[in-house]
Amino acid sequence: MANTYDKNDVVLEVRDLTKHYPIKKGLLGKAAAYVHALEGVSFDVHRGETFAIVGESGCGKSTTGKCVLRLVEPTSGTVTLDGEDFTALSGEALTRARQKMKLIFQDPYSSLNPRMTVSDIIAEPIDIAHTYKTRAERDARVEQVMQAVGLDLTYKYRYPHEFSGGQRQRIGIARAIVLEPELVVCDEPVSALDVSVQAKVINLLGELQEQYGLAYIFISHDLSVVKHIADTVMVMYLGHTMELAPKQELFDNPLHPYTQALLDVIPKIGHERIQDKKILEGDVPSPTNPPKGCCFHTRCPHCMKICCERVPEMHEVGPEHTCACHLFDKDLSEEDRTPVAINAAVAADL
Ligand code: SF4
Repeated sequence: MANTYDKNDVVLEVRDLTKHYPIKKGLLGKAAAYVHALEGVSFDVHRGETFAIVGESGCGKSTTGKCVLRLVEPTSGTVTLDGEDFTALSGEALTRARQKMKLIFQDPYSSLNPRMTVSDIIAEPIDIAHTYKTRAERDARVEQVMQAVGLDLTYKYRYPHEFSGGQRQRIGIARAIVLEPELVVCDEPVSALDVSVQAKVINLLGELQEQYGLAYIFISHDLSVVKHIADTVMVMYLGHTMELAPKQELFDNPLHPYTQALLDVIPKIGHERIQDKKILEGDVPSPTNPPKGCCFHTRCPHCMKICCERVPEMHEVGPEHTCACHLFDKDLSEEDRTPVAINAAVAADL
């Protein structure tokens, strides 16, 4: 479902986004430690683009989405929406800017108010924003959006419990687009749905994107879904960006050892068994005590001495393709390149 979009038409600019959650202890509630959820993440999203963020659970992908929407306040960094510094806004200006960015939740079961009718759920954002002057205009907009997402108009006065998971997700999508946002953050929007329903919801997102020129930040742990829907993919691990590339380039030519390991475990079409897969050794380290140097070094089969000491920069490794790995650092000494066994690297961290 990859799209063509204007690479000069940037809707969202994220720069050095960082989020540290304090772990408070004692009577005074002083911060005893911090969860390093997000570390200096930067990317652009273009109008009409689907920008996917992938990685294992706890990698920071959902925190990125929440910080972009300011559902949680970032510790530092900027989010610029349509040229306006969204992170600096407050009061009415923030409420107005929020109309341009919406969220589709992961769980269509718990994200809809069970006491509200479908019509009121979908209309809630326009009711809050007071977008329409008359009830008739508001109802007409609700009906227009219901039709756009494939919901029968006879469902208007029904309640969420009367619907299947796929239909509930359509209601959630209708609510997200009713204000005609520029960007929608889709946080694992199909992971709670049956596989047969997933494809329908993904196709619907594609149709809406084409119709309204929407940009999506598509957060997912499922690379098969991402392969279908994304234009650009950012791979995250322990709050850091590991690799960023156009979708086809990333799947054809993954260069970061973590991306390679992630892609290795996707079943290939026509192969019943996953062949030659390299399963990652060890667990993801704790974000309260992340490893020094490259945060992936405790699990990386290519770990070198420098990897345990210095955080790698993002290196340009191809057209629009960047990768945070010392393997692409041309200025390393022979000593820097000394191989380190993974177990030894883990031991050095303990
Ligand atoms: Fe592996 Fe070193 Fe690259 Fe990190 S910087 S991914 S440890 S080779």
